[in-house]
Amino acid sequence: MEAIFQKIINFDQNLLAIIALVVFYTLEEVLNTTFEFKNRPRHLLNSALLQLGYVMVNFGLAFVMVACFQWIDQHHVGLFNIIEIPYPLKLVIGLVCFDFTFYWAHRLYHLSSFFWRLHRVHHSDNSLDSTSALRFHPFDALLDSAMSIVAAAIFGLDISVVLFYFVLYIPLLFAQHSNFIFPVWTDKVLGKIFASPNFHKVHHHKDQQFTDSNYGNLFIVWDKLYGTFKYLPVKDIKYGLEEFDGPEQQRLFFLLKSPFLNFKKTNEGGGINDKG
Ligand SMILES: [Zn+2]
Ligand SMILES: [Zn+2]
Repeated sequence: MEAIFQKIINFDQNLLAIIALVVFYTLEEVLNTTFEFKNRPRHLLNSALLQLGYVMVNFGLAFVMVACFQWIDQHHVGLFNIIEIPYPLKLVIGLVCFDFTFYWAHRLYHLSSFFWRLHRVHHSDNSLDSTSALRFHPFDALLDSAMSIVAAAIFGLDISVVLFYFVLYIPLLFAQHSNFIFPVWTDKVLGKIFASPNFHKVHHHKDQQFTDSNYGNLFIVWDKLYGTFKYLPVKDIKYGLEEFDGPEQQRLFFLLKSPFLNFKKTNEGGGINDKG
């Protein structure tokens, strides 16, 4: 059993992301998709360059992450450093705890106007496809790394739990952003527990009351538990944010500088007020 878990943990995550991107991008080219792209190569390039920046920031943070995980382990900080459970069980429960932390972190990214400045780059995409899974502001890596350390400190998770989590999450992440409607059974069967692709697309709807829903990365159960789950047929979803609607606002340079720009929020619903 442990050998299987070790194989999953050791799987090269960059390779996994490339495989997922190639598979879903190719499917989008050959299958009927929900909308036609005006300039797909530009869209791909923007997402890829943003991700390159994200990876570089992550790379720069690697030594901080390693030091924090070592400190947590050496000082027996967190729940699973206090109670003894078998390693495979620790991995599975750790996975649930990690996703739980990221559900609340994601809510915080939407609630705080400071964090939203970075996170809105992901939501600004008005033509969602598999490459949108790469579209995060480089400084978003700072938030994600900080939240990983918070999760590790609360629950006493080691780095293997984080690796295990991302091996499972990466293929789902690309599926969630793919430019086609997944069959209803994926919502009815997988969607009982997991954040199905159709559910995550609702999170990218322009209307703020839907943007502020379906926060779960891997599991949708948190949204159902805390009342943030919303459903809308994919054909009725309008992607993006109104303040990023123009072609100028979709350019790479604009996206990079957008966290430092003040926008008047134009979305409807009960979202936050960006006072910046
Ligand atoms: Zn979000
Ligand atoms: Zn997304």
